[in-house]
Amino acid sequence: GQCIMVCPTGALMSTDNVDKAREILEDESVISVVQFAPSVRATLGDAFGTLSGTNVEKRIIAGLKMMGANYVLDTNFSADVVIMEEGTELLNRIKDKHSVMPMFTSCCPGWVSFVEQHRPEMLDHLSTTRSPQAVLSSLAKTWLPEKIGAEPSKIRVISIMPCTAKKIEAGRPQLAKDGVPDTDLVLTVRELARLFKSRGIDLKEIEDGEFDTPFMSRGSGAGVIFGKSGGVAEAASRTLYHVLTGKEVNNVPFKPSNHPHVYKEADMDEGGVKLKIAVVYGLANANKICDEVAAGTCDYNFIEVMTCPGGCVNGGGTIRFRGNYLNATSKRFEVLERADENSPVRQSHNNPMVKELYDEFLGEPNSHKAHQLLHTSYDDRSKTPAVPSIRHVWKKIQLG
Ligand code: SF4
Repeated sequence: GQCIMVCPTGALMSTDNVDKAREILEDESVISVVQFAPSVRATLGDAFGTLSGTNVEKRIIAGLKMMGANYVLDTNFSADVVIMEEGTELLNRIKDKHSVMPMFTSCCPGWVSFVEQHRPEMLDHLSTTRSPQAVLSSLAKTWLPEKIGAEPSKIRVISIMPCTAKKIEAGRPQLAKDGVPDTDLVLTVRELARLFKSRGIDLKEIEDGEFDTPFMSRGSGAGVIFGKSGGVAEAASRTLYHVLTGKEVNNVPFKPSNHPHVYKEADMDEGGVKLKIAVVYGLANANKICDEVAAGTCDYNFIEVMTCPGGCVNGGGTIRFRGNYLNATSKRFEVLERADENSPVRQSHNNPMVKELYDEFLGEPNSHKAHQLLHTSYDDRSKTPAVPSIRHVWKKIQLG
């Protein structure tokens, strides 16, 4: 007969996301699609000793293929798509004198939840563009099945993300089609490390892998820097500069800000459009900026907000640092900056796969179809009970 071992704490019996991921990856009746966020390639190495501080992108692909993933795609690609949608939205808002300004970025779900729960008067300031996770998942259930000739209902999307806030985001009813979430399962970086280790996969030992398809897995240098604070603003600036001048730049100079709650900022005055861009991290800082917007004293018109200090490389689901926090952060920054510099394409709008997506499938940025598949809406949740983790953060802020 069968021998069933019973764990007294229940730990061995519990089904967590690692087990669920394995089930999806091993299920031959579905097509498993895995995406991983820009920051993951800079942080997962810390779970494998000597790989700390190195770009493990190709090893992640190999590991996921060994686990049974049918397609491994790159969230860097959808980060580029986010820039096309968000940049277009920003310019449209600037041109329309009646629109709500300034515009805040919306790719960090910790920040979006904070606005919904504590600053609902700021909801119209959030870009309606979905996050890179949500954009890739939406396309994985629409464009991808068209490209590979598959039945959309067979696709299961797993995403590897830097934080548990991304799990909450994946469960938003706005990010589902006919009640089925676009993202079926989210694993944090720590859970991915456990998934690999549960099958004896040591990233130090394996050969590099390659992405399966050029579409949805080729990102630009602008896409990969989404993983660090300031990266979204920088990526958007490269594309906005091109739209306004017709010229290309590999970097837009951001300078440290004198504003006490702004990390860095940049000015652009091109083609009759004045941009004043701010990079903010930490919800206490963002809350102060909301006060200024409410008082009408905020003179920035585009504001990137990330909840975590330094952005997603320091997300709550990443591998904890060994040793000096600042050293570890700057190493993780360097991995992403080097990936950007070494990238053959540095701007989102020059990514050939982004062009293909619009030519073949979406038409133009902010088109009707793009709105349906890549934009979202937000709810005033100030009267409904807060998600415990967010309430905890908010209490901390109030206590100073
Ligand atoms: Fe998650 Fe932090 Fe990145 Fe926001 S900044 S998406 S909370 S890891």
